[in-house]
Amino acid sequence: MKAGKRSCPLCREEVLATATWCKHCGRKLPDPAGLNGRSRTVTYAIVPDGPMFGILLNGEVMIHGLKLENAQEIVSILNSMN
Ligand SMILES: [Zn+2]
Repeated sequence: MKAGKRSCPLCREEVLATATWCKHCGRKLPDPAGLNGRSRTVTYAIVPDGPMFGILLNGEVMIHGLKLENAQEIVSILNSMN
């Protein structure tokens, strides 16, 4: 991967490292690791979201409409980025 780029955890397309939203799938991206130079403790969790599942961050569902298996994979990726 080129410097200044990272992969969207949702669609795997390449986006700018500082991007807030993925230009490919339109989803909100997790904050870039180490962008502000401070260590952060952020934990993502899977929550029911209607008939599907969502990903919870700081009391807010940031990603909606996932299958459970996809939510589990994304949460593991996001938590590994902390
Ligand atoms: Zn994407």
